[in-house]
Parts: sequence; structure tokens; C-alpha cells
Amino acid sequence: MQIRLFVPDDLFPDAGIFLSEAQAHYLRSVLRASEGTEVFLFNGRDGEFSGRISLLDKKKAAVGHLKRTRSQPEKKDLRLYFAPLKRDCTDLIVEKATELGATLICPVMTEYTSVSRVNTERLRLIAAESAEQCRRLDVPEICEPLSLKAFLSSRKKGDPVLIHSDESGRGRAASSVIDGTRPAAFLVGPEGGFSDAERRLIAQTPDTAGLDLGERILRAETAALAVLALYSCFK
Ligand code: SAH
Repeated sequence: MQIRLFVPDDLFPDAGIFLSEAQAHYLRSVLRASEGTEVFLFNGRDGEFSGRISLLDKKKAAVGHLKRTRSQPEKKDLRLYFAPLKRDCTDLIVEKATELGATLICPVMTEYTSVSRVNTERLRLIAAESAEQCRRLDVPEICEPLSLKAFLSSRKKGDPVLIHSDESGRGRAASSVIDGTRPAAFLVGPEGGFSDAERRLIAQTPDTAGLDLGERILRAETAALAVLALYSCFK
């Protein structure tokens, strides 16, 4: 198994990097790594580097002799806006959306959203762990929650088309709405769906398109992952 860690520091050949206390604990107590073990580091900017653990005790860890193993790929633009669900489902969405390539993940509060608080710090940790595991070289940005109204009115000219999952039967087929070669923003509603007023608001917003995900009503988390999977199938 490759050990991969996300770090905030700049990475360059021969650099020496100190890891966080949590990473030292993870290496020592969870992975049973030791000095000399190979690890891979990335920071979302400089590509991927391999190095060897040069120091490891209870609270401190360092990695030295870095060598570049991969260059940083071009940044994509794939945004997921979703109505937050209960904690486990929200965690699942963030973990899987990271695997499926989302570059920005943003909780959006709607009329029928049943949770009132979202722990974005926790979601950032989940996204970083998921990126480490799936070998991507960046971690999606997690935004602070915003209301649907604020989100729709913050959209600017030139933003990617907003594709909202619409279970009402008025949405269009994936093949006519999703183009995985272009930036995209997806919006998925809460368990209770969007209210009529919200549907009107979305319809009045420029550059939006409704997406039909088939004849069954999907759980919100299924819909969020389905749209990202459809998008990431394109080359
Ligand atoms: N209120 C609805 C269910 C909402 S499902 C009802 O009870 O009938 C939660 C969200 O998942 C929806 O807001 C929509 O964005 C998405 N969704 C679920 N099934 C879908 C489908 N077949 N097509 C498109 N979007 C879907």
C-alpha cells in the first residue's frame, strides 16, 4: 500500500517536510510505519513527491529526500452544490465526490433542508483523506454553506452551466445536458426535493438546465454521486 499524505508546505526536490502531529500519530500508531518508510506527499500545487520518513516519534514526523514522481495535472472545474443531509450521508457525499473528481463542494441550504449546521472543518478532513486514498493530487475546496437564493444570485456570467437534478419529469436526459469535457456545476436537492418557489427561482436563473436521472426517485446522496459519475465517464 502506498502511503500518501496531503501537506500544506511547498514541495520541491530534496526538500525536508515536517508533518502534523495527527499525521505523525497516523504513521506510527495506525500504519506502524518507521523511519525509512517511503511516503508520497502532495499539496495540490506542486505535483507528487516520494520521500522517506526521516524522523518519527509520538508527536513529530518528518520526510526527507523528496523526489518528484508526478507533475500537477491541469486544474478541472467540477462543482457540486448539494443540500446537506444528516451527518453520515453528508460525509459520504464529500468522500465519494472527491473520488469522482469534484473540485468544489458546497452545501446549499434550501427550504426543505432538514439540517441546520454543517461542520465544514470536518468535511475538509474527509476530503483530504479521500484525495490521499484515491491518488488525486488536489483536494476539493469545501465552501461554507450558503442559501439557495444567495447561491443563485451569486452566479456570474461565464460560470459553468448549472445542471440541477430534477425528479419531476421535466428534466432532460443526461446525454443532452452533460458534457464532461467542459466545466460543470451540479445542484442536487434535499430529501424533500425543491419547493415550487425554489423551482421557479432556478428556472429564472440564466444558464441552468434540468437533468432527469431516470424513472426512479433516488435518495439525494445517490443523485449527487450519480451526476458526478455520469460526468466523469466522459473523456
Ligand atoms: N421530494 C421528492 C424526492 C426528492 S429526491 C419526492 O419525495 O418525491 C432528492 C433529490 O435528488 C432531488 O431534489 C433531486 O435533485 C435528486 N433526484 C432524485 N431522483 C432524481 C431523478 N430521478 N432525476 C433527477 N434528480 C433526482
